[in-house]
Amino acid sequence: MKTYYLPAYAIADLIKTRQISAVEVLEETLERVRDVDGRVGQVDASQAQSKEDLSSVHAFTTLADEHARGQAEKIDQMVKAGESPGPLAGVPYTAKDIFTVKGIPATAGSKILSNYVAPYTATAVERMETAGAVMIGKVNLDEFTYGSSSESSALKPVPRNPWDTSRVTGGSSGGSAAAVAAGEGAISLGTDTGGSIRQPAAFCGTVGLKPTYGRVSRYGLIAFGSSLDCPGPLARNVTDAALVLQAIAGEDPRDNTAAVVPVPDYLAELEKDIRGLRIGLSEEFFRVTYFDADTGELKENPIDGEIKDAVLSVAGFLAQLGADIVIDVPLPHTKYGIPTYFVISRVEASSNLLRYDGVKYGFRTEQPFEDLRELYRKTRGAAFGVEPKLRMLMGIYLSAAQFDKGYYQRALKARALIRSDFETIFDPKGNYRLDALLTPTTPTTAFPIGGVYGDSVLMQYSDQLTVTTNHAGIPGLSIPVGFDKKGLPIGAQFLGPDYSEGLLLRVGRAFEKVTANEEWRNRRPPLLPAND
Ligand code: GLN
Repeated sequence: MKTYYLPAYAIADLIKTRQISAVEVLEETLERVRDVDGRVGQVDASQAQSKEDLSSVHAFTTLADEHARGQAEKIDQMVKAGESPGPLAGVPYTAKDIFTVKGIPATAGSKILSNYVAPYTATAVERMETAGAVMIGKVNLDEFTYGSSSESSALKPVPRNPWDTSRVTGGSSGGSAAAVAAGEGAISLGTDTGGSIRQPAAFCGTVGLKPTYGRVSRYGLIAFGSSLDCPGPLARNVTDAALVLQAIAGEDPRDNTAAVVPVPDYLAELEKDIRGLRIGLSEEFFRVTYFDADTGELKENPIDGEIKDAVLSVAGFLAQLGADIVIDVPLPHTKYGIPTYFVISRVEASSNLLRYDGVKYGFRTEQPFEDLRELYRKTRGAAFGVEPKLRMLMGIYLSAAQFDKGYYQRALKARALIRSDFETIFDPKGNYRLDALLTPTTPTTAFPIGGVYGDSVLMQYSDQLTVTTNHAGIPGLSIPVGFDKKGLPIGAQFLGPDYSEGLLLRVGRAFEKVTANEEWRNRRPPLLPAND
C-alpha cells in the first residue's frame, strides 16, 4: 500500500522507526495530489469545464510544497539525531484556507483576501507543527465558511466529492474532507460553526470532530461567528482524530475564550470498552423541521430512510458491545436550531466582516474613488461574493436597535433552551443520564453540484442535525457508518456533554473495531486504484 492512504499513526511509526523518511512520504503524497487534484483553486478562474476538471478533486487553494519539504527534512534530521520528532512525525496534512500560516496565503475562499499573505500562524497549526505534522497546503471552503457545499468559494474550480465527482463535498470544510478522502494528506484541520467539519466529513466518508467550544484555540482563524467557531480535525479514522485533538487542544494566552481546562490523555481512553455506557436516540434527529415562509407554519420531513436505517444499525452494534440504548430522548428545542442560527451567526458575521475595507489589507478596488466611503463601497461591492453580502445585510438588519428584542435577544433565549435540552439528557442525576447521543450527521447524503446552490435557506437546512451542538457549545464526532444505494457515504454523530471528546472518540473507536470486517469498510473512492 502506498503511504498516502495509510493512517497518520502508521505513517508516524514508519518514520520514527526509520522504515521510510518523512521526505519520501511527502513526495508520495505530493504525487498523489498531482494525480487527482487537478487545477488549484484561483480567484476569477473558470469553473470546471474540461473532462479532466470534472473528474478531479480540486481540494487545494495553495500548494505549499516548498514549506512542506523544509518541514519534512527537519523531521528526518531529528529522527537521525535520535531526537523525538513528535506523535505526528512527518504526517502530511492540509489546513482549511481559514487558518493563517505565516508566509502563506490565507484567502478564506474570498476575493477580498485573495492577495493576503498571513504574517502570523494560527495556534492549531503551530501545535500541529510541534507535533511533527507537515502542512502540504491550504484547502478550499465556502467563502468565509458560509455554506454547506463549498460551492460559494470565489476560488474556482470548487472541490468535488471523491466518491462521485458530480456531487458536492459538503461544506464549509469541503476541501478538507475531500483531501482526506482522496488520500491527499492523512489529516486536515477544519472549522465548525454550524456543522462545517461534521457535514462534509459525512458527505466524504471521513471522521470529523467538532470539539467543545474553547477546547481548541481560535487564534489565527479568520472569524465567522465568534461564539460558535470551533477548529478541529478531519481524518480517515478515529485514532488519528484523537491524535490531532491531543496535539491542538488546550489553553492559549492569545485567545481568552480558549478554555483553561486540562487536556486528558485521549489515547489512553480510546481502546476501553463501552459496556454500560448509556447512549440515546432522539426522534428529533430523524426529521427536519422547517418553517413554511408563506404560512409561518412548522412543517416536518423525515430524513432519508437509508440514513435512518444506518444509524439504527450503529445502535445495534453498540448494544452488542454492552451499551444501553435509551430511546425516545426528548430534545424539544432542536427544531429552533436553524432559525436561531440564522440570527446569531448573521449578526456575528456582519460584525466580523467590517474589517475588510480595502484600507488595511486584502483586495482594494482598482476603480478610481473620490473619498473613503467610495473606496469602501467599491472594494466591498467588487470583492465580497453573494453569500457574505446576504449575511451582512441580514446581520445588520437584525442587529438594529429596534429589532434587538424581537430577534437577537429571542435567539439568545432559544439558544439557552437548546443548551438546557442537552444539559437535561446528560445530567448524571437526571432521568436520562446519557453518556452520549447518537444521531445522523446529515438529513441526506451528498447532493449534486448545482442542485441546492442558490437557495441559501434550503442549503442551511442541511445543518439542522449539527447546528444545535454549536449553540450548546458541546462536542460532536461524526464517523462513517456505511453507504447508501448510490454508493455515497453515510455519517452518524455522537454528541456528549462539555469536554467529553475522550468518551465520544472511544465510542467511535468501538464501532470502528466491531465493524472492521464489514464489506463497506474496504471500499475506496473510485479515484484510488484498487491495489494502492
Ligand atoms: N453551513 C453553515 C453556514 O452556512 C455552517 C457553516 C460553518 O459551520 N462554518 O453557516
